[in-house]
Amino acid sequence: MHFFKYRADELYAEEVPVKKLAEKYGTPLYVYSYNTLLRHFKAYTDAFNGHPHIICFAIKSNSNTAILRLFAKNGGGADIVSGGELYVALKAGMKPEKIVYAGVGKTEDEIRFALRSKILMFNVESEDELRGIDRVAGRIKRRAPVALRINPDIDPETHPYIATGLRRHKFGIPIEEALEYYRLASKLKNINVIGIHTHIGSQITRVSPFVDALKRILLLIDKLSIQGVKIDYLDVGGGLGISYRDEEPPVPKDLARNLIPLLNGRKLTLIMEPGRSIAGNAGILVTKTLYLKKAEEKEFIIVDAGMNDLIRPSLYGAYHHLLPVVRKKRDTVLCDVVGPICESSDFLATERELSRVKQGEYLAVMGAGAYGFSMSSNYNSRPRAAEVLVKGRGHFLIRKRETFSDLIRKEKIPAFLK
Ligand SMILES: *Cc1c(COP(=O)(O)O)cnc(C)c1O
Repeated sequence: MHFFKYRADELYAEEVPVKKLAEKYGTPLYVYSYNTLLRHFKAYTDAFNGHPHIICFAIKSNSNTAILRLFAKNGGGADIVSGGELYVALKAGMKPEKIVYAGVGKTEDEIRFALRSKILMFNVESEDELRGIDRVAGRIKRRAPVALRINPDIDPETHPYIATGLRRHKFGIPIEEALEYYRLASKLKNINVIGIHTHIGSQITRVSPFVDALKRILLLIDKLSIQGVKIDYLDVGGGLGISYRDEEPPVPKDLARNLIPLLNGRKLTLIMEPGRSIAGNAGILVTKTLYLKKAEEKEFIIVDAGMNDLIRPSLYGAYHHLLPVVRKKRDTVLCDVVGPICESSDFLATERELSRVKQGEYLAVMGAGAYGFSMSSNYNSRPRAAEVLVKGRGHFLIRKRETFSDLIRKEKIPAFLK
């Protein structure tokens, strides 16, 4: 459920016509709905209310500090995957004791920064990393709180690029080797084993992969307990899907109904790392039609948002609904909606039946709130888009549009070329 709806034939973000935002702030433009973000966040906290838990928003899905502040103010934490994300999380006001840190390639500098910041725990993905964290912690006389990321070998039945929990993936530790790893971790002087972590993939549209993964992890926790390893934090990752097209994914309440009974009688604090299911449908990308071009078999609608603004269609073949910002009664046309970037893979939609649009009219790319702006780039020397947060009748610029001078701000011409 989100708050981007037509009133008569105009698309609104909460109480504000999207066209008004496009005219005021320019395009391409990311527009987020405050009340949708809050509602999606609260769907998690309400569903898991009866059980000790922390909702650690996956910052890689949307790292705007205004949006992170919204979650922080409502008791949320962060799932981070880099030193940069830790910096952003802290700047946004996230409490370090609600920050968990995953990723297969943490550097020494990043580990030191996280230790000094006193984050809740490192989700460790390999033996080398475990020893590396132990070493850095020893050097600065800290004990590193650690969970091991276990790969439960569950098929999440999602796109191969966003599945992470199978044996062949680079993520985590194979579940068969988990006991050995925990034994090693317990022996390391500067490591404090407190948790277990798993994250099986993204855009998962059924409950059963989560249940299967949790069952495997709980068996492992029992084995660990026999060996004297006590687990306090059970981090089940993120990955709940959203409706991009016609999917009907479970909601947090469905997850809670299936997962909480399995946790009865256990003293485990549950951690969840949702990204897409909170931010995805809470944001749209607004783009303007530049040109129309007729080819033999279809038409091209050329818009001012490209793959540098939203890469999901190009990268994953992802589907996003495209809606006219002002609906007209016109016939439909089979078309590709493409951006201005010099790549054939620069499209927002292919072979799409859309109501005809005219030059200068706006389209809304729905479901762009997660892995939209955060994956955007300056490719083709395009300044990145502006971001606006809408709350009721209010609208607030939360990231200025980049300028041309931003494009070369960090560059230097060596003296011998001057
Ligand atoms: C990407 C990621 C998430 C968030 O996934 P969503 O599908 O956006 O919910 C959570 N945890 C980890 C470790 C991740 O890599």
